[in-house]
Amino acid sequence: MDRKLIIEKAYENIISGIINLLLPIAIPSIYSYITNTSLKTIYELPFYIYLLLFVPLIFWIIRILIKAKMEEGIEYYLPDYMTKYINCGHIVYKDIYWTIQIPRDYRGKSISIIKNHLNVSDEPKCNNCGTKLEFTKHDMWYTWKCVNCDFVKRTLISPDRLYSRVEKKYERWLELKEEEKKKMINLIHIINTKFETSYGKYELKLLQKLKDNLLQNKELVNEIDNKNKDEIKPLFQKYYNKELKNKTKFNANFYTDIENNIEVKNILEEFLIDDIYEELEFVNLINHD
Ligand SMILES: [Zn+2]
Repeated sequence: MDRKLIIEKAYENIISGIINLLLPIAIPSIYSYITNTSLKTIYELPFYIYLLLFVPLIFWIIRILIKAKMEEGIEYYLPDYMTKYINCGHIVYKDIYWTIQIPRDYRGKSISIIKNHLNVSDEPKCNNCGTKLEFTKHDMWYTWKCVNCDFVKRTLISPDRLYSRVEKKYERWLELKEEEKKKMINLIHIINTKFETSYGKYELKLLQKLKDNLLQNKELVNEIDNKNKDEIKPLFQKYYNKELKNKTKFNANFYTDIENNIEVKNILEEFLIDDIYEELEFVNLINHD
């Protein structure tokens, strides 16, 4: 249901409730005012007559109870200002930095659950400097402008449509992350078979961290943009080895196992190169439709 509709419905219910509740007081009062009878005389009427005045209220309560039963299990989204959102990620689309949020209650839930509850923050930021963008609706186009640097984006796409596209793109992004996670679990399974170890969730996190660190390496990412997988290998290996060495200090067993076994090290290296290419390709696709 549309958020606006929910609020309207809530008001409607509250107002009709109040009216129904006031009827038993209002009708006798009005009656006594018009006919000039004292209220006391009216309240001394037989009880069952007075009870008639409560009929609308009773029907109203029954109606609410039936409606509540009918709507059991239906999930409503609360209006924005009533739901507490937390940031869960971002994407760059149309050169604009969009913050993605989920309701606070969904923190820590699995991707398959949160991907249906995404909310795009209505305060997108400048991708160059991080300042909140200023939005203007012109006669023939829309403008997103940064007040801090010279970034300006003119577009014919309405903000609502942009939000909905960003939401869809981020949903796809999450699905990609889910696929990646499955691949990493499979990789850990291979390592476990090889070394008769029982690496699990913790090592999965380490692998994800290793990949994230490589992705944050600007030099590497820039080179990947211009080179193919074979050309990138020397540079990739340089940072890959560096990361592994760094990590061995903290998580000795897992990384030493990888370090000491060329075969596994190569499997992991191939996997990471493929995965990073795939991720960067997707990021480019997101930005340029
Ligand atoms: Zn800026």
